[in-house]
Amino acid sequence: MSDTPTRSVSAAKTRRLADLVADMISSITRRDDAETAMQIRAELDAMETRIRQQAAALDHRQRIFDQSSLAARIGVWECNLPDETLRWTDVVYDIFDLPRGSSLDRDEIVKFYSEESARELHRRRTRAIEERSGFSMDAEIVTAQGNRRWVRVTATVECEGGVPVRIFGMKQDITEQKILMDQTRYLAEFDPMTELANRSQFQAKLADLCAHRAETEAAGALLLIDLDGFKKVNDTLGHSVGDDCLKQVAHRLKDVCRQAEVVARIGGDEFAVLVRHSPTDTIGKLAQEIVDALSRSIENHGQTLRLGASVGVALVDSSTPSELFKRADMALYAAKAAGRNRFQVFELGPTSNDN
Ligand code: GH3
Ligand code: MG
Repeated sequence: MSDTPTRSVSAAKTRRLADLVADMISSITRRDDAETAMQIRAELDAMETRIRQQAAALDHRQRIFDQSSLAARIGVWECNLPDETLRWTDVVYDIFDLPRGSSLDRDEIVKFYSEESARELHRRRTRAIEERSGFSMDAEIVTAQGNRRWVRVTATVECEGGVPVRIFGMKQDITEQKILMDQTRYLAEFDPMTELANRSQFQAKLADLCAHRAETEAAGALLLIDLDGFKKVNDTLGHSVGDDCLKQVAHRLKDVCRQAEVVARIGGDEFAVLVRHSPTDTIGKLAQEIVDALSRSIENHGQTLRLGASVGVALVDSSTPSELFKRADMALYAAKAAGRNRFQVFELGPTSNDN
């Protein structure tokens, strides 16, 4: 069989085929490598883009945090234990009026706190470290530039292996809040014109006096005071002169009733005084002193005015606050009816229908 040429053709073919396959494999491998490299490059690019986006988002968030921190006047602080090295964010420096980033010595910083706040801070901090807990308190400081401020301090103790290693938290300037809160509380409890307690504070004190009446000793009394002929001052001299009179009356009442539980303006020209633990004769003496003090002439812009006041007294017993008030009011009415410029003590008589 002349198969030799056929066999040699076939061998050549096989060689060419093998070369072709090798070329193809090499080309595929090169292509694969290039594809893989391209893929890796694309992934790297995407990753880089993502990182850039995340960095931008982080930067944006940091800026938002910094802005809110500045706006809310909240800064972050931390103190390493036990070497007491302090680290602050910018806002904390601002609160203390210290240059941002300046070196911090904890002993020197504590000196900015008022004596009472420093004592309280020390107490709470020591306990928090002992108990591995935290605390929150409002502290008063006088800054490096002499500004008085209120700071809300929050703290958390961080431990490693059960050992406290760090104490950190926030410091917020709450001066404005504190002023607003004090003003709101003041308006809720005081009469802005006379600066005496207002009706609502008086009622709370009266309820308290009745609830905690001492059974064994003299309990006290409620004195209601109403100026005599006050309308005439307003009608003849004007409302602002009337206001000045009310202020002077308040001042005199405060002066006479220094030992009282509360001196309040409870209405237009009506005042109330609460005294605790006073024997009846002392209360009578006080009522007379009030009448005397308010009957003294009042000087106003070169004018001399005469007013006078009537006083109704009710002694504290087991009555409710409203019963007590009613009794003092009845006694006041009786003092007015009896000619004014005097005091009257309410007495439970056999014919009295008070109960
Ligand atoms: P009385 O002797 O019977 O007590 O009569 P009065 O003239 O003192 O008048 P009354 O106690 O009945 O009324 C109190 C008056 O006080 C009524 C009102 O014109 C006046 N008044 C109430 N609030 C104010 C205030 O805030 N300022 C001033 N100037 N006057 C006030
Ligand atoms: Mg009056």
